[in-house]
Amino acid sequence: MAKYIFVTGGVLSSVGKGITTASIAKLIQARGYSVTAVKIDPYINVDAGTMNPYMHGEVFVTDDGGETDLDIGHYERFLGKDLGKHNNITTGKVYLNVIERERRGDYLGKCVQIIPHITDEIKRLIREAVRKDGADIGIVEIGGTVGDIEGLPFLEAIRQMRFEYGSENTFFIHVGLVPILDTTGEQKTKPLQHSIQELRRIGIQPDMVIARSRKKLLKETVAKIALYGNVPEEMVISSHDVETVYEVPLLLEKQGVSSKILGRLGLEDGEPDLSDLEAYVNRWKRLSKTVSIGMIGKYTKLRDSYISIVEAIKHAATQVGAKPELHWLESTDIERDRADLEGFIEEIEGAVILPGFGRRGAEGKIMALNALREGGKPTLGICFGFQLMVVEYARNVAGLKGANSTEIDPSTPHPVIDLMEEQRKMDRLGGTMRLGGYDIDLVENTLVYSLYGRKRVRERHRHRYEVNPRYWDRIFVDGLIPAGYSFDGRVEFIELEEEQHPFYIGTQAHPEFRSRYNNPAPLFIGLLRASLKKAIKV
Ligand code: GLN
Repeated sequence: MAKYIFVTGGVLSSVGKGITTASIAKLIQARGYSVTAVKIDPYINVDAGTMNPYMHGEVFVTDDGGETDLDIGHYERFLGKDLGKHNNITTGKVYLNVIERERRGDYLGKCVQIIPHITDEIKRLIREAVRKDGADIGIVEIGGTVGDIEGLPFLEAIRQMRFEYGSENTFFIHVGLVPILDTTGEQKTKPLQHSIQELRRIGIQPDMVIARSRKKLLKETVAKIALYGNVPEEMVISSHDVETVYEVPLLLEKQGVSSKILGRLGLEDGEPDLSDLEAYVNRWKRLSKTVSIGMIGKYTKLRDSYISIVEAIKHAATQVGAKPELHWLESTDIERDRADLEGFIEEIEGAVILPGFGRRGAEGKIMALNALREGGKPTLGICFGFQLMVVEYARNVAGLKGANSTEIDPSTPHPVIDLMEEQRKMDRLGGTMRLGGYDIDLVENTLVYSLYGRKRVRERHRHRYEVNPRYWDRIFVDGLIPAGYSFDGRVEFIELEEEQHPFYIGTQAHPEFRSRYNNPAPLFIGLLRASLKKAIKV
């Protein structure tokens, strides 16, 4: 039977519960156990695909085409393995299943209720996810904060799992914030105490409390949390701020976190192999040079909107030996004030044109691309950024006046980016994009090919539009070349010939989703190398 570790959150959201969950999973995995991680999101959306990244953060796309919560990205990056749709459970998914069953007549004669029907379905989905991944241990993070109305059925379900499987098979971790007062420097535990009390009120006594704080927990802070939280002092863990998220597992390891958990679960402890993580963190800390990268998009006010791209840049950074300094530019601001753009581009050494949807801010990105292309600044266009590279080139080089994507201008005279054929039949927006991993064959003798170092690659996708095949002849002129095609016949990569530009590459895919700290995505390495004016072909 699998064992389950549940992670709840207190005080406020965004305290790093996802990183904590991923870190603990990593520590257990490093001891040779097969581990998987599951994220529960208590919102009614069936998946994250229909949510605005500006409010909820990035939509992380799995290889099997799941549009999931960004924490799945943390889990994949820390565990170094692909997860799937089933690793993200939402209220919407749970209710959809139960209501479908009710309509089929599966509960005939019964009154369908939150307890036991919804809670049973939650438990079934958790067990199924862990079983599918063939894991000995499933670590399940409950999104949101204890006390949220939406979270209650999930907390009830995990309470039942402890009741059914016993304390030797389940373990509860509560993660909460300990704020430090600016005026006195005091570590305040009251909000954390209250959130633990709230958890106990519904029948869950945490086995371990992990306190997030700016500084290491003082002895007296630990004692206080232990006393009020009803947990032994050695089960109060300090998770204070560190330089990079990849250091969190090392910080938790020093406090014996996973040994303590395994001990309680009656599992053998062992020497963890964390050498690749340590190597990454050491390299990161030793970076003395910097490289300034412009991040041009329209959800730039919430950095979590592009978290996998930021992580991919940080992964690549340790390979090229320079710490990235990210300069964010809101593309709608470019549309309003062109002068701003010139100053911005002068300051940066390379740029990423970020993914996105819809008309707002698109012209700003096109203006930026024009300046980056003409100015010879290394540029990587991702998904919408790639599509707008094509639009800019069509208009300003290929002579296709008024060229556009039909997503922005449905009546453009030159629809160089157009809706994919099969998308025309879609009558609903949830889960209907071209999603997930596709194999791509690269074109030999291109920069993209040399960066990947092989002919066949696989990258993930999330889009409805594509380079219009009817325009291939007219846009691939004067040095713009297609550098890769997917199996279903789409242009996946483009680049400008080396004589024209040191690094001007676009991709319809999202290479950021496959980047790992110990295996960075080749295009980001290329971008950083070019930005540092290093030779790209190695
Ligand atoms: N909006 C574009 C499309 O649907 C690009 C999507 C993206 O950047 N992820 O094709």
